[in-house]
Amino acid sequence: MRKPFIAGNWKMHKTVVEAVDLAVALKAALADVSTMDLAVCPTATALEAVSHVLTNTNIGVGAQNMYWEDSGAFTGEISPLMVKELATYVILGHSERRQYFGETDATVNLKLKAAIRHGLTPIVCIGESLAQNEAGETVPFVGNQIRGAFAGISQQDAGKVVLAYEPIWAIGTGRTAMPADADRIIREAIRDVLRDLYGEATAQAIRVQYGGSVKPGNMADFIVMPEIDGALVGGASLKVEDFAGIVSNAAQALKA
Ligand code: PEP
Repeated sequence: MRKPFIAGNWKMHKTVVEAVDLAVALKAALADVSTMDLAVCPTATALEAVSHVLTNTNIGVGAQNMYWEDSGAFTGEISPLMVKELATYVILGHSERRQYFGETDATVNLKLKAAIRHGLTPIVCIGESLAQNEAGETVPFVGNQIRGAFAGISQQDAGKVVLAYEPIWAIGTGRTAMPADADRIIREAIRDVLRDLYGEATAQAIRVQYGGSVKPGNMADFIVMPEIDGALVGGASLKVEDFAGIVSNAAQALKA
C-alpha cells in the first residue's frame, strides 16, 4: 500500500517572516494527521526558519530546486549538501523550471541522481502542455519524461522517488484535469513505463501525486482514484485553511 503524500509548493511566495507564520499555523492545524505524509516546500531563503519550526512534527520540509554538483563555482545555485542540512525532500523538474529556467529531462536526471546520492527524497514533476494534450501526445510525452528522468537509476533507487503528474495547463489556472483522465495517464504513461523499466513491484511502490489547481473542493475526487497517491499543491498551499482543508478532505475521502 502506498501511503498518501500531500506537499505544498510555496513557489516564490512568502518572506521568511511570512513563511514562519504559515508554518506555525500549519503545525497546529495538521498536528493530528497520521494517515498521510505531509510536506511544505518554501523558498530557499525560508528553508532554515521553516525547518526549525517543523522539526519533530508530522510535516516534512522540501526545497523547490537544487543543482547537481556538491560545491563549486556555480553562482546562485544551492547544492544537495546545502539542501540536506535543512530539508528531506526536493522538488525537481517543476514545469516552471523547465519553462523559464531551461531545465530538461537530462538536467532533471542529473539532479535526481544527486538527490538520491545524498539521501534526499525527490519529488519529480512531469506533465504535458495544452498543445500536447490536445494533440493526443500526452502518454508518449510523459512516458519519455519518465524514461529521461530515470535514465541510469537502479531499481533500488527508483523506489525512493516520488512523482508528481502535473499537466502544465492545469497549474495555477484553476482548470483541473478530470480525475479519471489523470488516473489513466498515470497508469499508461507512468506506471506502465516504470513496470517496463523496473518490474511490477517497483512500479506499484512509487507514489504519484496529482498537481494542478488542487483545492479543498476537488481533492477528494482525485485522492479516491486508484493511481493517485496525493497531491502537489501550489496556490492553495499558501493559506492555512486551504491546505488544511485539502488534507482533511483527502483523509475523509480515504476513510469513506
Ligand atoms: C504546482 O505549483 O506544482 C501547482 C500544482 O500549482 P497550483 O496548485 O497552483 O496549480
